[in-house]
Amino acid sequence: MNRKERVVSLGLLMNITLAAGKFAAGFFSNSVGLIADAIHSSSDIVASIALLIGVKLSNKKSKAFPFGMYKLENLIELFTSFAIFFAGYEILRKVLFEKNPYDLKHIFVAISVELCAILVTFLFSSYEMRIGKAEESPGLIADAQHVRSDMLSSFVIVLGLGASFFKIYYADKVAAVIVAVLIFKAGYEVAMDAIRVLLDASLDYHTLDNAKEIVLSFPMVKQVKDISGRNSGSYKFIDIVVELKTRDLEKAHKIVSEMEKAIKKKIPHVDSVMIHYEPAEKKDFVVALPLSNFNEISNEFGSSEYFYIATFENGKLIKAETIKNPFSRVEKGKGIKTAEFLAKNGIDLIVLKEDIKSPGPRYVFDDYGIQVLVNKNISMSNFADIILSWAGKDDEEK
Ligand SMILES: [Zn+2]
Repeated sequence: MNRKERVVSLGLLMNITLAAGKFAAGFFSNSVGLIADAIHSSSDIVASIALLIGVKLSNKKSKAFPFGMYKLENLIELFTSFAIFFAGYEILRKVLFEKNPYDLKHIFVAISVELCAILVTFLFSSYEMRIGKAEESPGLIADAQHVRSDMLSSFVIVLGLGASFFKIYYADKVAAVIVAVLIFKAGYEVAMDAIRVLLDASLDYHTLDNAKEIVLSFPMVKQVKDISGRNSGSYKFIDIVVELKTRDLEKAHKIVSEMEKAIKKKIPHVDSVMIHYEPAEKKDFVVALPLSNFNEISNEFGSSEYFYIATFENGKLIKAETIKNPFSRVEKGKGIKTAEFLAKNGIDLIVLKEDIKSPGPRYVFDDYGIQVLVNKNISMSNFADIILSWAGKDDEEK
C-alpha cells in the first residue's frame, strides 16, 4: 500500500465511523440536523471507496491505455460529486417533506458527538491535504477540501442544537437546510474540477511559465513559439515548439532531450514533454564586427577594442551601435572571454576578415549557436550587402 492508498483507506474508516456515530446520536436525540449530517457522511463513504479505486488503478499503463488511466482519478471525482448532490437532496427531502415534531432530547450527547466529529475531521483533513500536496494528487486535495468544508456543516449543526437551549427548536431544521446548501456547493466545485481536467483544460499558467523559463535558459534557443499543457489525474503533459539556432539535427536532438530532462527534474509529476523544434529563420538576427578603432574593421578578434553590433529585422538593418570590448587587454583567454561577452549580447553571427586561430572562441560560438562568416573583403561600406546575401543563401551553399 503506498502513501496515497493509506490516506484514502484511513479516510474510508473515518467516514464509516462518523456516519455510524452521527446516525446513532441523531436518532437518540431526534435531531434532523444530525441525521442530515449522518446522510452526508454516508455519501462520503461512497466518495472514499471511489477515491480508493481511483488511486489504485490510475497509475496502470497498458497496451490498450498507453497514456495511462490517469483520468480515472478525475472520472471518479465526477462520480463523487453525484454522491454529494444526492446527499444534499436527501437532506432537503427529510427536512421539507417529513413531518417530525420538535422533540429534541439528550442534546448534550448530540453536541458531544458532533464536537468529536469536528476534531477528527480537522485532524484528518490537515493530514490528507499535506499528503495530497506532496503527491500533487487532485483526488486527495479535492477530498481534503471537501472534508474541511464538512467541518463547517458540523459547526452549523452544533449551533442549531445549542439554540434549542434557548427554546429555538426550529434552529435544528434550519441548520439541516444550511448543511444541504453547503453540500451542493461542495459538489458543484468537485464536479467542475473533474470536468475541466476531463475536457483537457490548460495547465495552470505558473507551471507553463516555469517550463518556458527552463527552455529559454538553453542558449541555443532563439524563441519559444508555442507552449501548452494539460493535466491528467495527478500528472502533467507538456507540448513545446522551439526555434533553435542550429540546423544540425543531431545537435538539436541532443539539446531537446536535455530540455526534457531539465523540465522533468524541476517540475514535479510531469509524465511527458513533447518538444518540436525548428531552425530559427534567418530574417531577424544580430551581427558583430570587430573594430580596431571606431570605424575600421579589425583583423583580430579577442584583442579588438570595439565591436560594431548591427541588428537586422526582416532583412533590413534597423539598429547599429559600437560597444567597447572589456576583455581586449586581458592577459589570458581573451578570445574565449570576448566570445562569451558577445554571446551574452545576443549575437547570432560574427563576421571576420580572418578566421580565428585558437579553437577556444569557436567552442563558445558552437555552444551558443553563433555562426561565423569569414570574408577578406568586408568593409564598413559593403558589410550589409555581404551579410544579406549570406542570409539569403541556404546552408548547403555556404
Ligand atoms: Zn462530505
